[in-house]
Amino acid sequence: MKIFRTAGQYLANTYRRQPIVPVRGRGMFVWDQRGKRYIDFVGGIAVCVLGHCHPEVTRAISAQARRLMHVSNLYYIPQQVELARLLSTITPASIRKFFFCNSGAEAIEGSFKLAYKHTKRKRIVAMRGSFHGRTSAAVGATWTPRYREPYGGLIPAVFDFVPYDDLDAARRAVGDETAAVVVEPVQGEGGVNVPSDGYLKGLQEICEERGALLICDEVQSGMGRTGRWFACQHWNVEPHIIAMAKGLGGGFPIGCFGSSPGIMDSFSPGDHASTFGGNPLACSAAIATLKTMKRLNLPRRAERMGRYFKERLAELGERHRVVKDVRGMGLLLGMELENERLAEASVSMAAEMGFLINCTAGRVLRLVPPLIVEKTHIDNLIGALDRILGALER
Ligand code: PLP
Repeated sequence: MKIFRTAGQYLANTYRRQPIVPVRGRGMFVWDQRGKRYIDFVGGIAVCVLGHCHPEVTRAISAQARRLMHVSNLYYIPQQVELARLLSTITPASIRKFFFCNSGAEAIEGSFKLAYKHTKRKRIVAMRGSFHGRTSAAVGATWTPRYREPYGGLIPAVFDFVPYDDLDAARRAVGDETAAVVVEPVQGEGGVNVPSDGYLKGLQEICEERGALLICDEVQSGMGRTGRWFACQHWNVEPHIIAMAKGLGGGFPIGCFGSSPGIMDSFSPGDHASTFGGNPLACSAAIATLKTMKRLNLPRRAERMGRYFKERLAELGERHRVVKDVRGMGLLLGMELENERLAEASVSMAAEMGFLINCTAGRVLRLVPPLIVEKTHIDNLIGALDRILGALER
């Protein structure tokens, strides 16, 4: 197709793209240029929590676009205040003040700056298998050597990596110089890894004992995806800082980090800023997303549908020897296959059959559909995967 050539000519070669050109979306579906329909189990990678073009989000965006799209943070922005107030009704009790930015990586960078400013300490403990984004400090805290090492010179030498889900290792690593421990309550890019039950609470205790801050990166696991508004709430963990983005704007770019007033007030005017952060348009999209999610009780739905989905994936695991593991929480699910070749082939064959799925950590099929997914969509995908795995095993 012509667009593949033109894209090669004009776009940075940073993405390995599927040969698909989605041009329209509605709910669980997207259509490509030729009118072929796909059921979307990627959802913009855990972004489109309400599916595509939800009418309440679309309406809020177009109304706000007609009234006032952007104004500087030199002024008061009512939508930003309203969004922060709404967020304070769903975050753990420790999180009551918010800073708005545009992406997950920015939310992580801001969280690190806040931890530095508050603790006046210099090191950050991060986890193996982690992913926190592509800007300098965020990629510095990201485990995957291929993402981090080419940019070594741009990355501050402050990160101490420890194995995920290993409290003893964390206890040894967190010291007097540790400003923060950054952790994904459920690792996404790292292959959908759920820690043991006492892990996050244990990290919180270690941080409190040593005067470090616990940063939960809920960019992927937050906004209802795992069956609670934030995954850390499954274990009653009260982080010092939460970073979020992805689902927050229902498809419109917006990121955020939140903290307690005592910690957030370590910032004073000039300490941190973002031109676009929390502008009226982005905040209107997020307010509409949050209100609709609350009305539909989507975290609860994610829990219910996730349980069903995981059971059906586990059935596939019993039938197909190439399936090595099925794991995850709510609608953040992973199915690990025997090798990368099988995973890649599954993604392509699923697309041919009209399903968008994604593969992460080489050989883990990652399933992060909109939280409005229904049993019939899940059943259809399971049927397709059954045929795909059967064909690949032959
Ligand atoms: N943190 C986590 C846990 C993520 O999954 C991601 C993106 O996948 C990020 C941070 C970075 O977010 P963004 O791509 O919006 O910068």
